[in-house]
Amino acid sequence: MTYILVINAGSSSLKYQLIDIDTETVIAKGICERIGIPGSQLTYSPADGEKVVKQQDMRNHEDAIGLVLDILADKDVGVIQDMSSIAAVGHRVLHGGEKYSEPVLVDDKVLEAIEECIPLGPLHNPANLMGIRGCMAVMPGVPMVAVFDTAWGQAMEPKAYMYGTPYADYEEFKVRRYGFHGTSHRYVTGRAIAWLKEKGIPKEEARVITCHLGNGSSVSCSKGGRCVDTSMGLTPLEGPPMGTRCGSIDPAIVPFIMEKRHLTPSEMDTYMNKKSGMLGISGVSSDFRDLDAAKKEGNEKAALALDMFAYKVKQYIGAYAAVLNGVDAIVFTAGVGENDRTMRQMIAENLDYLGVKIDSDYNMTCPRGEEVEISAPDSKVRVYVIPTDEEMTIAHDTAALAL
Ligand code: ADP
Repeated sequence: MTYILVINAGSSSLKYQLIDIDTETVIAKGICERIGIPGSQLTYSPADGEKVVKQQDMRNHEDAIGLVLDILADKDVGVIQDMSSIAAVGHRVLHGGEKYSEPVLVDDKVLEAIEECIPLGPLHNPANLMGIRGCMAVMPGVPMVAVFDTAWGQAMEPKAYMYGTPYADYEEFKVRRYGFHGTSHRYVTGRAIAWLKEKGIPKEEARVITCHLGNGSSVSCSKGGRCVDTSMGLTPLEGPPMGTRCGSIDPAIVPFIMEKRHLTPSEMDTYMNKKSGMLGISGVSSDFRDLDAAKKEGNEKAALALDMFAYKVKQYIGAYAAVLNGVDAIVFTAGVGENDRTMRQMIAENLDYLGVKIDSDYNMTCPRGEEVEISAPDSKVRVYVIPTDEEMTIAHDTAALAL
């Protein structure tokens, strides 16, 4: 048994999973919420036991990690003897800028680099740093690994990552496409490549388009397992419309709406990130289940939001197939991609010109939570549903560097 702790720290929350890397199993997982806010609570779910919810004050991330370690080693509900059973800790870090294209062992220089990237990830990077520093404080000597969401996109060529804004702003402020959901795109791409190998397509030639469709959505494409392009940009706002994010819009809308609605830059940011997308269009919800239900009841705006989403994802598939000069596999993953069968159908139908033919009956009946192929046997392009596993990927990266 080799235990790796995987941490995903947000500004007031901290998700954790304890993974046995030898057997690839999750031993326990949970979340600390409302860190630094009155009413903090820890949720803990051991794989072989009952869920525990504990209300307890957490002043900061260090307190939160202390409580996580306490409950993991608790004599009644714990799953490990003590902290020394944890061989290493893997941290999800949002932004590594142009410095990191691979996971890295954390040292002072890495901490500095994550700090330098705060202007690019102003909400997440400070929280990620608090998670790492909190762990270092309560687990001295235990190796820490940072796995960057932006690392996948670092393989892009300048023609794919540059925007049409003055070059000086790239040089001075690092304005460019970075892309996010990198760990997920990397993982499901690796799985698709393994499937394609069985069909006689070698890794170096594999052209894969991955659709990570969840609350936040991004589409990415790769050749030989290296990212060629990805829909999220300088920030996670670019791409198809998302749960509450507007996705790509005419940039002139920004000053126009700011003027009309008298919004400050930060209010405009909230408008685009929290009040737009599926929620903003439908006025119903950001959750695709609610939208499906509203559509069935005849809500036209909910139906429009879903149509727009399918249309935009389809556009990305077309654009990326052009860039790759064809496609061998299309992958659906994340909450919507793994579960919303109707959405998959809407996206993948009428792509015959590309050689995509999905087995509509199987798409509607295939098991959930498993890797399945939903393309018809005579489809030229394989279409897979692959459950993403960012935590397990982070655990593997951590083990590879730290053990
Ligand atoms: P996040 O980006 O927060 O990680 P997830 O990948 O967990 O998001 O996806 C969450 C979204 O998945 C929810 O907002 C919901 O719309 C969608 N979803 C989950 N289950 C279903 C389902 N059975 N049918 C349709 N949509 C679903």
